[in-house]
Amino acid sequence: MAVLLVVEDDVSVRNVLIRDLYAHGHTVRSVGTALEALRQVSNSPPEVVILDLGLPDLDGREAMSMLRSVSDVPTIVATVRDDEREIVRLLRSGADDYLTKPFSSEQLAARIETVLRRTAAPSPTQLTVGELVIDPDRRSARLAQSELQLSRREFDMLVYLARRPGSVVSRRELLSNVWQQAYGDDQTIDVHLSWLRRKFREVTDQSHYLHTVRGVGVKLEAP
Ligand code: CA
Repeated sequence: MAVLLVVEDDVSVRNVLIRDLYAHGHTVRSVGTALEALRQVSNSPPEVVILDLGLPDLDGREAMSMLRSVSDVPTIVATVRDDEREIVRLLRSGADDYLTKPFSSEQLAARIETVLRRTAAPSPTQLTVGELVIDPDRRSARLAQSELQLSRREFDMLVYLARRPGSVVSRRELLSNVWQQAYGDDQTIDVHLSWLRRKFREVTDQSHYLHTVRGVGVKLEAP
């Protein structure tokens, strides 16, 4: 079973969740604020986070995006608002699943199992483009035999492009698939692309893998 982090400020709700999830065989940790949750996730990451959105310190969506800025940990959000637009926004901010309060422990336990199954699914094998070798499983990338030190976004963007070698991908597509933002600043992409290019240049002089196609987007192709 899994190590779970329950983020819930209501002590009675929290105790019920802890008791029931424990009964399902999970190891349960709990905190009552978003900031404590961020600290926990950074210091000793759980396998799944159950995040209440009505926390005293941060608005639900803010909490979700801050969590995503530090970790990819699968997260199920619990909301009292059965509001479709809000739910879509939460999923876009990186939530893996959601539950509307009140929910049964049975339902939560089932969602946890699904999320765990999904994240444990065998990830695609190594991707190779020219001398660039990416292992999405181990989150490692090598160029010309040198290990690249990439940030989470740089790595995710590289994987996204490496799965479509030679195809032009628009900045919009990268924003919505890598950043999970429906709207955003194209410059974000350009900045990350320039960082990636610099890291490539540092390890090889055959570094021209990222080709900008003016007015369209970017493609990954061996030089
Ligand atoms: Ca609450």
